[in-house]
Formats: sequence, structure tokens, C-alpha cells
Amino acid sequence: MDKLKIFAPATVANVSCAFDILGFALDTVGDEMTFTKTTEKLVQITLPENSNLPTDPLKNVAGVVAIEMLKKANADFGVLIEIDKRIKPGSGIGSSAASSAGAAYGVNRLLGDIYDNAELVQFAMLGEALASGVAHADNVAPAIFGGFALVRSYSPLEVIKLNSPNELFCTVIHPQIEVKTEKSRKILKKNILLKDAVEQWGNIAGLISGLYSEDYDLIGRSLQDKIVEPVRSLFIPLFYDVKKSFMDAGALGGGISGSGPSVFALSRGEKQAEKVAEAMRKVYSQTNIDFDIHVSAINSVGIKEI
Ligand code: ADP
Repeated sequence: MDKLKIFAPATVANVSCAFDILGFALDTVGDEMTFTKTTEKLVQITLPENSNLPTDPLKNVAGVVAIEMLKKANADFGVLIEIDKRIKPGSGIGSSAASSAGAAYGVNRLLGDIYDNAELVQFAMLGEALASGVAHADNVAPAIFGGFALVRSYSPLEVIKLNSPNELFCTVIHPQIEVKTEKSRKILKKNILLKDAVEQWGNIAGLISGLYSEDYDLIGRSLQDKIVEPVRSLFIPLFYDVKKSFMDAGALGGGISGSGPSVFALSRGEKQAEKVAEAMRKVYSQTNIDFDIHVSAINSVGIKEI
């Protein structure tokens, strides 16, 4: 294979209670990336004209991932990566992860599929380390595996793909203020109370159980975060108004997507998710903050060749 084009999905990480260990992929939001083999043993990156992202492969997450993969494989070719960036950087729906995971997938195809999904996650984490200073996997794992992906362990890395009930839909609102993952990590408390940890463990277990038993109400009850949300919500204007609006509109539950500022809600059925979108829209329409809203099914396959 000398050339391919892919869809690299946006992802919602943390999923309220599962900080750094759980994420899911979206179906209708993502970047497009084209990979072309070159005879020059170089990684080159192009971006749309209006993009402020770096084209220097050492500064772009896709570049660092591709360079490392080609080096490890001792490849005798280079790659041109054209990124059609549709996920706004710093949105909290895995903009850097889509490029990192997309690069891992695309370069692996050009190499003849020599790496498995777990290895691709590990390569993609290099991009996340560049973007946020921390090699977290809760966005790149669902982008590569699809559906809900659990990072059971970081050392050694173990990713488990979970069941995704097929009536589950996600609504995401992205208020257009930039929150850098790096900054929103720094403000987190380093210690937590045991009683808060116990509550959080209960919710994570409840959420996983609900995904398997397809118990939508249990999924909703479990979407609670005692530890990270109270701190990170300070960066998100009208966070609690949005949350009240989606709960009143009938969402199962929700919270901050990744490190924010996007806010997500899960619903049973697309119609319900559209109703939730309407309720969220009303809240931000009263402000002068621009916003995007997406309604999407859960993407069960992750990266797709298009
Ligand atoms: P998000 O949670 O939406 O991914 P982050 O703050 O984690 O947002 O990542 C965005 C950061 O990564 C920005 O500083 C951006 O400059 C950097 N970056 C480097 N390459 C890319 C890329 N290809 N796509 C998106 N962000 C990139």
C-alpha cells in the first residue's frame, strides 16, 4: 500500500468518573488524514491554510508518532501526512489524540500492518505526551479500538475494549474558549479523600456494569465525578447550568469531556440526544460565547479508511 485516507474520530475521555482510564469514540466528528509513501526518508506534514498548528514534524503530534514508528521499523521510505483538521485543538474532544492515533494507524498500514492495536496505542501516546506533557491513553485507545476503551493499566499498558450499547448517543457542546490540557492537569489535587475514592470506584464499576448489562439508567446514575469535575468545572462558563439543562431535558448523565471546555451528555436514542442538544444550545445562546454542538452515535470501530 502506497497511499490511504482515513477518518480519525473525536473522542470523549474520562467519561465523568473514570479519569484517565476510560474514553469512547464519536461517529460523526473527526479529522481526515491522507498518508502517502515517499522515497525521501522524511516525515512531512501539511495542514489547511487557516490552521495554526505546527507543520514541523517534531512539533506536530502526528509527526512525532510517525517518526518513531518508521525508525523502529527501520523503514526505507518516508511519509507525507496531509491533515484535514476538523476537531478544534484544545476542545477537549481529543483533537491531538485524533492526529496521534490517526498517524499510528496510517503509518502502520504503509508498513504492512506490522503492529497490533495495543502497540499502536503506545505509539500514539507519544503524541499525547507532546500535546499535554502526559502520555495518557484514554483518548487514543478508543480512537484506535473504537467504542468504549478502558485503560486497565498503564504499566504495563493494558487496554480493554468494552461493550457499547447501541442505543447510546452522545451530545457534546464545545464552548469556544481554549482550555489547555496541560493547564487543567496542573490544577488537580494530588491527594483525595478515601471516602471520595470509594464513591468514585463504585461509580466506575457501575458504569462498566451498565455498559455490559445495557442498563441505561445504571449508566446514567454512575456518571458522577466527585474528584475532578469540581475543580475543572471552574474553567467552564455556565458548567452547572448546562448540566442542569441536559438532566432536565432527559439525558442519562454527563460531565466534562476530557479536560474541557467541551461538556458531554449521554442519552438513550438519537431523538433524546437531539433534545439534549437543544437544551444545551439554549444555555449558551444567552451568552456571547460561540459554540459548536455535535450529536453522535458511539463509533464502535474507531479509525475508518475512507
Ligand atoms: P485536545 O484535548 O482537544 O486534544 P489538547 O490541549 O490536548 O487538546 O491538545 C492540543 C495541543 O496539541 C495544542 O497545543 C496543539 O498545538 C498541539 N498539537 C500538536 N499537533 C497537533 C495536531 N496534529 N492536532 C491537534 N493538536 C496538535
